[in-house]
Amino acid sequence: MHTYQGRCHCGATGFKLRGARTPDQWTVCACQCSFCRAHGARTTSDTEASVHFITPDESRLNRYRFALKSADFYVCRNCGVYVASAIGSPSGRFATLNVNVVSPLVEVPAAARVTYDSEMPAQKRARREQQWTPVTDIA
Ligand SMILES: [Zn+2]
Repeated sequence: MHTYQGRCHCGATGFKLRGARTPDQWTVCACQCSFCRAHGARTTSDTEASVHFITPDESRLNRYRFALKSADFYVCRNCGVYVASAIGSPSGRFATLNVNVVSPLVEVPAAARVTYDSEMPAQKRARREQQWTPVTDIA
């Protein structure tokens, strides 16, 4: 099992990712929605891994929502870095992580450009529940 840490620029918010895969085995996507393009985000998720978010002061974190408002985009209120996005559902919490905030830097496969513009809300929810990384409260 490997552990990777990610954090915003100022360190107010971040995460610990635990999984069997090494970064060269990660699935990396460059979502083409206007939010992800604006941030130059490259995201990764792994259904067999787990992620724990670390935000000592919740007031420093903006859970930005837009469009369908079906996910929270974790953006640091202080430094503006986009760290991850997450959903809550009856089957648990799930997240996709911005590879760019993993520290120290990791080498990952080239990001596949993806677009989800044509998804219906139920499809969007199902994809996230089935493909995103389970969120755990355990550090
Ligand atoms: Zn920050």
